Amino acid sequence: MDCVLLASGSKGNCIYVGNDSDSIIIDAGLGYLMRTLQSMRLNTENLRGLCVTHEHTDHVRSAKAFLKAAHVPVFASGGTLNSLVSGNIIPASAGKIICREHIPVIAGGLEITAFRAYHDAAEPTGFVIDDGDSRIGICLDTHKVSDTMKTVLSACDAVVLESNYCSAAMKSDRFPECGLCRSCGANCQGNKCVLHVYPKYLKDRIRDDGHLSNEDSSACIAELSADVGIFALAHLSENYNRPNIARESAWAAAGENGAEIYVSDQLQDYRERRLVSFHV
Ligand SMILES: [Zn+2]
Ligand SMILES: [Zn+2]
Repeated sequence: MDCVLLASGSKGNCIYVGNDSDSIIIDAGLGYLMRTLQSMRLNTENLRGLCVTHEHTDHVRSAKAFLKAAHVPVFASGGTLNSLVSGNIIPASAGKIICREHIPVIAGGLEITAFRAYHDAAEPTGFVIDDGDSRIGICLDTHKVSDTMKTVLSACDAVVLESNYCSAAMKSDRFPECGLCRSCGANCQGNKCVLHVYPKYLKDRIRDDGHLSNEDSSACIAELSADVGIFALAHLSENYNRPNIARESAWAAAGENGAEIYVSDQLQDYRERRLVSFHV
């Protein structure tokens, strides 16, 4: 299967997973989605559905437009589906497939299995996509990776895993190697400095009910890298993270096992996005 991270981060999230005969989209947080898929010559002839991890805007911004163009059902937990309909994010008439935790559902030649995530949404989940030959795990917005999640992900060939923030930067409002300023100022060298200092309540929300730190992401990679050959780091904060910091942390965690590590940068603009893609 091919996996393409079309967009990743708080500005938008969207992942394509597919082979020659079946394909699926996980989260529709990217505008002009159909056009983008077609321009990239990805398999839009056999789209089987839209999986939605949770109802936050950065994951569903273009869900309605995509469903209108693709005519596919939505796969999500019951809580997420309810939020999508009540929030008018998808039409009530949209095809809906309820994904219960650890119970596979069929989407053409693909098997989709949801697992619980920990995030401040109605009923957030991750997904495992299996085409019979290979298995890709998608684990986005979650503030922790439970033992159950690790068990599910360890059976995957590749895992897309959140690596949202650098704990040291979140704590001190500067990156470990940067001694120049608390927030980006005239003397700042730029790419290592925090752009905006977040208020305490927002930091607490991110840490306790929001997102996964580089450190927790790397701890997960250390446990899984004997079984999983590819990790794609996703949903990096543009404020409290940098791709090189997340990458180095993950490399150190993968250690001798030699897992491939990809890092998806924040979406800047859909035409300038830096894509991560891999094949398993
Ligand atoms: Zn998100
Ligand atoms: Zn979210």
